[in-house]
Amino acid sequence: MNYKRLLVWFRNDLRLHDHAALFSAVEKGDEIIPVYCFDPRQFKSLDLGIPKTGSHRAKFLMESVDNLKKKLKELGSDLLVLEGHPEELIPKIAREHGVHGVYFSEEVTSEEKKVEEALESALWKLGIETFTFWQSTLFHMEDLPFPVNQTPEVFTQFRKECEKFSKIRKTYPKPQKINSPNINWGKMPLLSKYGLEKPANSSQAVIVFEGGEDEGIRRLQTYFWENDCLKTYKETRNGLLGADYSSKFSAWLALGCLSPRFIYEEVKRYERERKKNQSTYWLIFELIWRDYFRFIAKKHGNKIFQVSGIKNTVDNWVRNEQLFQKWTEGNTGIPFIDANMRELNATGFMSNRGRQNVASFLVNDLNIDWRWGAAYFESQLIDYDVCSNWGNWMYVAGVGNDPRENRYFNILKQAHNYDRKGEYIRHWIPELDPIQGFDIHQPFELSTKQLKESGVSLGGTYPHPMVKIPKF
Ligand SMILES: Cc1cc2nc3c(=O)[nH]c(=O)nc-3n(C[C@H](O)[C@H](O)[C@H](O)COP(=O)(O)OP(=O)(O)OC[C@H]3O[C@@H](n4cnc5c(N)ncnc54)[C@H](O)[C@@H]3O)c2cc1C
Repeated sequence: MNYKRLLVWFRNDLRLHDHAALFSAVEKGDEIIPVYCFDPRQFKSLDLGIPKTGSHRAKFLMESVDNLKKKLKELGSDLLVLEGHPEELIPKIAREHGVHGVYFSEEVTSEEKKVEEALESALWKLGIETFTFWQSTLFHMEDLPFPVNQTPEVFTQFRKECEKFSKIRKTYPKPQKINSPNINWGKMPLLSKYGLEKPANSSQAVIVFEGGEDEGIRRLQTYFWENDCLKTYKETRNGLLGADYSSKFSAWLALGCLSPRFIYEEVKRYERERKKNQSTYWLIFELIWRDYFRFIAKKHGNKIFQVSGIKNTVDNWVRNEQLFQKWTEGNTGIPFIDANMRELNATGFMSNRGRQNVASFLVNDLNIDWRWGAAYFESQLIDYDVCSNWGNWMYVAGVGNDPRENRYFNILKQAHNYDRKGEYIRHWIPELDPIQGFDIHQPFELSTKQLKESGVSLGGTYPHPMVKIPKF
């Protein structure tokens, strides 16, 4: 048998557990070269002057790669850290080190696909085979009960068909040992290389988000097993404050530090060992939403980034940078919107309830091009996932696949339902704290006397509302 040296290119799959590409390579190869490549195109500045990857997201990514390096070292290997274009550097490394095959995960959207295709063609010219693996979803693409280009447009239909006709595959075990050649493994880049500064950990954040497989698994351990929160997930998931109203798995899922199938297996174990109820099912239900957006992106290609989305809507969006900036800064004068945007800016995270409201406000109340909002989220969110982000934005903007026509969120009604006492606002906008009860959500409804008594001055300590929103 010939001696085989294989290269595993890590992308948004920064883990050792349930890693199809790594598992197969370790099984087939005698020596493995694990590689991660920081691609400068991911750090470029977008048209709006926003960095494509902001500092919170970049920090989380660095930590995740660093943790992978550490974990590979524990298995006797290491991670070769490169900086540049993967489609140029990987063939170079493969040739230099006499690699026989390159293993990696398949992505779905255009930027990632282009890189993949260019890499495959460069390796093909060198006579090096590539092996791709599908591994970011709960349901494997090959197990869908329909061809992916016929993915149902309506979520409920998608979910029901998958639940009825597909099985979720078992996770791959983590390799026990990895043999690697003795090479120069390179160093982790600094954030400053990409013009970014390390953001401070905010003491107001719902949890301390630290990237990497170890922290992702630790979070699952805390949320499911130590704090026993899974059994109440369905009732608490719309919360805004605190560590445990929802799982907070999203950032680790986005970079693949956690595998959705591993979470699924842990839910099943929890159901056997602790409790099975609507809440335990609901976490799986939400993971199916994640799958759905991925398959919809695969089906519709670049349409998910286009102004008319996957519907043929007319482009009558406003493109006003000043208004947009007020939204990004959390200076709209609408406390529920501002508190959420301030949380995002300070931590890189925002609850699902918050995201729906700020997105609806941008597209419905300000009528601003939804793609600007999606681009801002792309830059800021530590859990940025190309399919979930652009898919959800399309949905809120009414250019996606929502059977309900109007996705308008009445901000004050939402505030009343989810933050009646204004605790969330008090947490993020302390200058409004003296305003009692629900009134903190509507300082613009107070008389000059009331405002004065609270020490709040509209246009002074807190902005005037930039638009009139419906009363509650
Ligand atoms: C405008 C907008 C943009 C969004 N952008 C992203 C994004 O870039 N990345 C991202 O992971 N999620 C995104 N979401 C979905 C959702 O808000 C987050 O997944 C969720 O808030 C993350 O918190 P959690 O892990 O505690 O969620 P939980 O409530 O604990 O849910 C568990 C998991 O289910 C998945 N999930 C839950 N809701 C959704 C959903 N609506 N769509 C897709 N997956 C879902 C996530 O992977 C999440 O981690 C977006 C939602 C909106 C409205």
